[in-house]
Amino acid sequence: MSTFLDKLAVRRNRIEDQRQQLQAAEDFVWVWADVVDPSSHEYGAELGCAETNRLAHLFRVFHFWNTANQLQDEHQRGPNCNAAELHPPVTGECA
Ligand SMILES: [Zn+2]
Repeated sequence: MSTFLDKLAVRRNRIEDQRQQLQAAEDFVWVWADVVDPSSHEYGAELGCAETNRLAHLFRVFHFWNTANQLQDEHQRGPNCNAAELHPPVTGECA
């Protein structure tokens, strides 16, 4: 009985962990979409290819298409894009 309750507690903790991680990721995206979007044309240029892909993917899964596309575009026009990783074509919804 206690084993069952222990397992249940572990599972609850894991679900709570995942909930907090997802919330933190969403908060991060909302804050950084504001930083990247309006006027900072330098931001994407600072990133390497792999970093750009990871960050753009994060923005895309939260439907920040413009932010992801702009970030990638800035990066690809900047000095740090050295084809270390391929970039997906910049398409997707613009909303
Ligand atoms: Zn690149």
